[in-house]
Amino acid sequence: MRGTRVLVLNSGSSSVKYQLLDMTDGSRPAVGLVERIGERTSLLRHSPADGPPREREEPVADHETALKAVAEELAHDGLGLDSPELAAIGHRVVHGGRRFTEPTVIDDAVVDEIERLVPVAPLHNPANLAGIRTARALAPHLPQVAVFDTAFHATMPEYAARYAVDTAVADEHRVRRYGFHGTSHAYVSRKAAELLGREPSETNVIVLHLGNGASASAVARGRCVDTSMGLTPLEGLVMGTRSGDIDPAVVFHLTRVAGMSVDEIDILLNKRSGLLGLCGDNDMRDVLRRMESGPDAEAARLAFDIYVHRLRKYIGAYYAVLGRVDVVAFTAGVGENAAAVREAAVTGLEGLGLAVDPERNAARGGGPRLVSPPTARVAVAVVPTDEELEIATQTYALVADRPVDET
Ligand code: AMP
Repeated sequence: MRGTRVLVLNSGSSSVKYQLLDMTDGSRPAVGLVERIGERTSLLRHSPADGPPREREEPVADHETALKAVAEELAHDGLGLDSPELAAIGHRVVHGGRRFTEPTVIDDAVVDEIERLVPVAPLHNPANLAGIRTARALAPHLPQVAVFDTAFHATMPEYAARYAVDTAVADEHRVRRYGFHGTSHAYVSRKAAELLGREPSETNVIVLHLGNGASASAVARGRCVDTSMGLTPLEGLVMGTRSGDIDPAVVFHLTRVAGMSVDEIDILLNKRSGLLGLCGDNDMRDVLRRMESGPDAEAARLAFDIYVHRLRKYIGAYYAVLGRVDVVAFTAGVGENAAAVREAAVTGLEGLGLAVDPERNAARGGGPRLVSPPTARVAVAVVPTDEELEIATQTYALVADRPVDET
């Protein structure tokens, strides 16, 4: 008998986040993270469901050391990698390219293929791979599954996925729109349909995933038909530190007139732009607070306005892409919590059937909920995302029926 639990690992460049989920009831026997991997001191926080959280600071040189520490913490609570209840490990992998459009059981060939994608995801895939390699070494008996951030977007029609650049160059260097945050867009679009009491296969959804990174997607009858992130997670909406859409000629301009190198511009657009670049704060909570009063309220207000303007443009664009919209779903840190952003995003769009009800929008609540007036033609909803649950669900669906020795 295979177990019913899945360990979800999200190995980022300097952190490993993990959650152990029980697929019988959705409970989480343990969650935790290792932060600041490779720095002088790293932080390990482990929270078992039936005990107090444990925290320790110590040097953690690399992902291998981090995962070994995670395995020890789990074992300490009787939840180790050799536990018969553990069915599989699910890994978040950022870039699956065109090759991976479904969750995939990992073998050596899959590892090689993810490695081949490093040139299109240099910031993300190496860390994901380090997590996979270590987890396979630590738990060779367990099936391990890669769940790709790009996979949900693989259904985009070619005319949405292709950039209008020379075909030979694009093909040779794999330049196209891949899209990211796919597990979130998949989960939220499905939950938004459920909230309306409809089948996902009959529902058109605009998903606005507004976290530190932010992306929009147009989902027609359960399938993604367009999304705002592109070759990399830099394109599209204004984000915490990323510019989102700009004229690509800005890069040539800065190279020529400012003498900046490509790497410097990469850092400028990915790490020093967005809300941070506009007003000095990357956290929407700080931007909203600063807008209220004080000497730099104006800069914060302008950053907010630019953020919201871009959002409205994408809502309009995806409305046109879908033709008919049933629900606009806000999710992730900003989307779930910032009522002011939701209100500003749809104010004045009554002509499109969009509005928020001030009372519903201001109310706080745990689960999916409507924030549009009951009479609205298009529903506006807050749908908390749960990428770990989605990764665990997809992982479990793939391994639950496999014979135990076929790993
Ligand atoms: P995420 O990437 O989904 O974890 O979102 C993180 C971001 O959500 C933070 O950087 C904040 O900008 C934003 N956020 C979290 N809580 C709030 C809140 N109460 N109001 C506005 N923004 C929030």
